[in-house]
Amino acid sequence: MNIYQGRLLRLFDPWRSPLCTCPVKYSLHPYTGCSHKCLYCYATAYIGLRESTPKKNFIENLRKELDKANRNIIVEMSTSSDPYPPIEDKLRLTRQTLKELFRRGFRVLITTKSSLVTRDLDLLSANRSAVMITITTLDKRLSEIIEPGAPPPSERLLALKELAKKGVPVGARVDPVIPFVNDDPAELSLLVEKLQEVGVKHVVTSTYKAKPDSYRRIVSALPELEDKLRNIYFKEKTYVSGYYYLSLDVRMKLLRPVVNLARKLGLSYATCREGLVTKEFFSARSCDGSHLLSYSSP
Ligand code: SF4
Repeated sequence: MNIYQGRLLRLFDPWRSPLCTCPVKYSLHPYTGCSHKCLYCYATAYIGLRESTPKKNFIENLRKELDKANRNIIVEMSTSSDPYPPIEDKLRLTRQTLKELFRRGFRVLITTKSSLVTRDLDLLSANRSAVMITITTLDKRLSEIIEPGAPPPSERLLALKELAKKGVPVGARVDPVIPFVNDDPAELSLLVEKLQEVGVKHVVTSTYKAKPDSYRRIVSALPELEDKLRNIYFKEKTYVSGYYYLSLDVRMKLLRPVVNLARKLGLSYATCREGLVTKEFFSARSCDGSHLLSYSSP
């Protein structure tokens, strides 16, 4: 198998997590950094907290790499930044990237938190693509605190609806679930219900794993939760590949409302880096939504 990697087109590396269940895929980032500035973002521990910045000569360099790459491997945009930050509206770098990829027959999985993805519906619906949109809460005010640079949840739901209506297979990431923040079981169930109503076929969920920088951002935005969060994350100290995990029973409790309702509604479901791979928590052919590509029509 040709597993060519370039400087831009890299095989996805889940930062060496032994719990990652992702299939082999390319990971592609037109931008460095992310203007969505989610408090819980893991990428900032590796690259710092930065605005989305287009990579220099990105399209020109990408073209050279794409000619050598394996077209049977799915390309995901993006795994540790967002391909649709606000600046993309003007720069259209992700749009150009999609054109280059589709022209060569690549299958593309988009993972984003932005409704701007619907601008590219013409390309996405005419090619092998699937879209995963992250929604962590239906509460606009909470979303403004924890994902201050991203569009409101209602816009993301509308984007999913529009994509599904035009035949683009869509899924949702309900992650991370953060204890005491967005873990209300009734609200999570309502969120999954809304996702199903707008046409989502697959849901993946996970709990927040603490890293020093993201943890600091969360407790400084929500200081009233500091004691409770410290207690639940650092009393037992379950440390896996650089992250503080909640105890297994707490993680199962937090994720059950999502997977239980997904099962009831006939959606495929999975967990991300939890080590929870039994039928109760994992029914899908892929965690990340790659399997949705087999439903794309072109
Ligand atoms: S959208 Fe993703 S990459 Fe961007 S800040 Fe939020 S979690 Fe990080």
